[in-house]
Amino acid sequence: MSVAVITGGSRGIGAAIAKRLAKDGYDVVINCASSVEKAENVANECRELGVNAVEMQWDVSDHAACEQALAKIKEDMGVPYILVNNAGITKDGLMVRMKEEQFDDVIRINLKGAYNMLQLCGAMMMRAKKGRIINISSVSGIAGNMGQINYCAAKAGIIGMTKTAAKELGARGITVNAVAPGFIDTDMTSVLSDEIKESAKKQIALGRFGKPEEIAAAVAFLASDESSFITGQTLVVDGGMI
Ligand code: NDP
Repeated sequence: MSVAVITGGSRGIGAAIAKRLAKDGYDVVINCASSVEKAENVANECRELGVNAVEMQWDVSDHAACEQALAKIKEDMGVPYILVNNAGITKDGLMVRMKEEQFDDVIRINLKGAYNMLQLCGAMMMRAKKGRIINISSVSGIAGNMGQINYCAAKAGIIGMTKTAAKELGARGITVNAVAPGFIDTDMTSVLSDEIKESAKKQIALGRFGKPEEIAAAVAFLASDESSFITGQTLVVDGGMI
């Protein structure tokens, strides 16, 4: 069975993507940074759907760790057919008050982390002459967002990397697309104040936050044969926000 690697699969959107791809019949690798127990629970739920599922802890911003993890995945399960670059963090603050570390951490994990996996897994897929890569961006990377200059830079960068990788890998039959979620109910947005949440809802045509499963459905489409002639695109899934 084909293998799907989901970075940041222990919680929120990544966990929903892992479960959806397992439901669609893929063996799944569920990566996390530190919450191994949560990743283990997601893997158990995937196994109940009849596929092979493993949890693996590594830091996506560490190139050598990504290389080691992918070598192990290749040896144990085969070359991944699907890579979902989903791992991400926020360290919000207004630009004039932002510390250098806040900026660097978000770029290192959200942008460099996605690049590490894209480069290494992309090379494996090129040799296999097949693959689907889906990078999780954000509406913040398209429209900008106050207090998120670090995050917006990373998420806009992901869109640029997606377009470039699509051009470089297309001749080998590999598609590379991005999904840009709007506000989705996860740990990442649960820390926002009620005031911010209410004002955000007013900007959403459907009048509510999205569910992780609604992002997973878009990822499943881009991973499927139904999207075979779509590459280099960014699919906005935001309930009509931007
Ligand atoms: P969560 O905060 O719920 O989960 C983040 C996931 O990323 C966790 O699995 C976490 O692992 C993992 N992670 C963080 N840092 C690293 C790292 N260095 N190496 C490996 N894994 C790491 O986030 P969401 O589910 O909300 O978001 C998922 C993606 O969707 C992110 O890229 C986010 O930017 C994007 N997004 C989210 C939106 C939202 O409204 N929620 C909107 C737009 C985009 P661990 O559990 O071990 O910490």
